[in-house]
Amino acid sequence: MSGPPPDDAHHDAQPDPHGDPAGSQGAAWTDRDIVLEYFPATHERLVPHDLAYHLEDAGDGVIVVRDREGEEAARLTVVTPHGNPTGELCCDLCQRTGTRRYLGLYRAELPGSAGRRYRYLTACRDRRSCEARRLDDDAIHTLLGTTAR
Ligand SMILES: [Zn+2]
Repeated sequence: MSGPPPDDAHHDAQPDPHGDPAGSQGAAWTDRDIVLEYFPATHERLVPHDLAYHLEDAGDGVIVVRDREGEEAARLTVVTPHGNPTGELCCDLCQRTGTRRYLGLYRAELPGSAGRRYRYLTACRDRRSCEARRLDDDAIHTLLGTTAR
C-alpha cells in the first residue's frame, strides 16, 4: 500500500504522542525501536544502530572519540585545509555534504606511531548535529583500525 519512507524520514521520527507504544514495554524507545516499529520497510543501512562510540567536541577544533565506557579511544585534531575552499566535502561520519565552512578535515595519530602516522577523516564542524545524523561506527572503526561487530 505505502512504499518505504523517504531516505531521511528517520531523522525526524518521533514516537506518536497519541499512541501508546512505550506503555506496553514500560521502557523508553530507542531511535532504532521507533524506526523498526513505524518504518518497518526501512533499509537496514538506515536503521539506527546502538553506537559503540560517541564523538564530542573538546574545543579548539579537537574531537574526542569515546567508547561505551567513556574512555578516550582517539583524539582528532583539525587540519588546516589547502586547495579550493569552495569545493564540496562529504562527512565520513554522517555522509552530509557541504563546503569547508561546514566540514573540516581532521586527523588522528595512529597508536604507537609516535606522531609519524595519521589517519584522516572529513567531518562536520557542528558535532551535535553530525552525531544526531550518524548511523553507524564504520568510519570510527576505519579510523581506529578495528572491525565492526
Ligand atoms: Zn557529519
